Amino acid sequence: MTPAVFLDRDGTLIELVHHLTEPDDVRLIPGAAEAVKALRRAGFYIVIVTNQSVIGRGKLTEAGLAEVHAEMHRQLATEGTNVDAIYFCPLAPTIKDPTVIEDPMRKPGPGMLLQAAREHDLDLARSWMVGDTISDMLAGQNAGCRSLLVATGYGDRVPPDAPGITARVPDLAAAADLILTETVLNDEDTP
Ligand SMILES: [Mg+2]
Repeated sequence: MTPAVFLDRDGTLIELVHHLTEPDDVRLIPGAAEAVKALRRAGFYIVIVTNQSVIGRGKLTEAGLAEVHAEMHRQLATEGTNVDAIYFCPLAPTIKDPTVIEDPMRKPGPGMLLQAAREHDLDLARSWMVGDTISDMLAGQNAGCRSLLVATGYGDRVPPDAPGITARVPDLAAAADLILTETVLNDEDTP
C-alpha cells in the first residue's frame, strides 16, 4: 500500500478564487509545484480532494471543471510535475457549519479520501491531508490521516482553538518539508 498526501485544491494548491469557474483564473501557489514534486519523489501518491459546490449551484458544468483542471495540469507539467488523481464533490451545501458531515462525500466527510484509498490501494494511516479549512482538517482525521493546516487561502482566518486543528504551517511548501521530515524520522524508528 502507498502513502498519500491528500491536497485541498483552492487556497492550498492554487490561489483562492471564490467560486472559481475560469481556467484563466488558475494560479499555482508559489512553491506548490516544487512541494508536489518532492512528495512524489519520496513515494507519496498525490490526490486532490475538492468540494466543488459551484457544480451543485449550477455555476459550472463537469466539462467546465475538467477545463479548469486541464489548465492546472498544464501549469504543473510546466514545472515538471503533476498530481496522481483528482476527486471532487459537486454537492451544494445546505449547512454552513464546517464540522457537520452533510454527505459522506463532501468534506468534512471522509468519502473522497476513502474512495481514493480503495481505488489506488492507499495506506490511510501513513497518509496526510493538507488544506486551508476546518472541513479539510476534519475530513483527513475522519479518514484516519494526519491533517496539516496551511495559512494560504482561508487558512490564516482559522482560529487556533478551532476543531480539528492539530498542526499549522505557512504553506504547501512548508507542509511538504514537515511531512518529509516526519517520514524520515518514522522510517528510522522502524526496526
Ligand atoms: Mg480550500
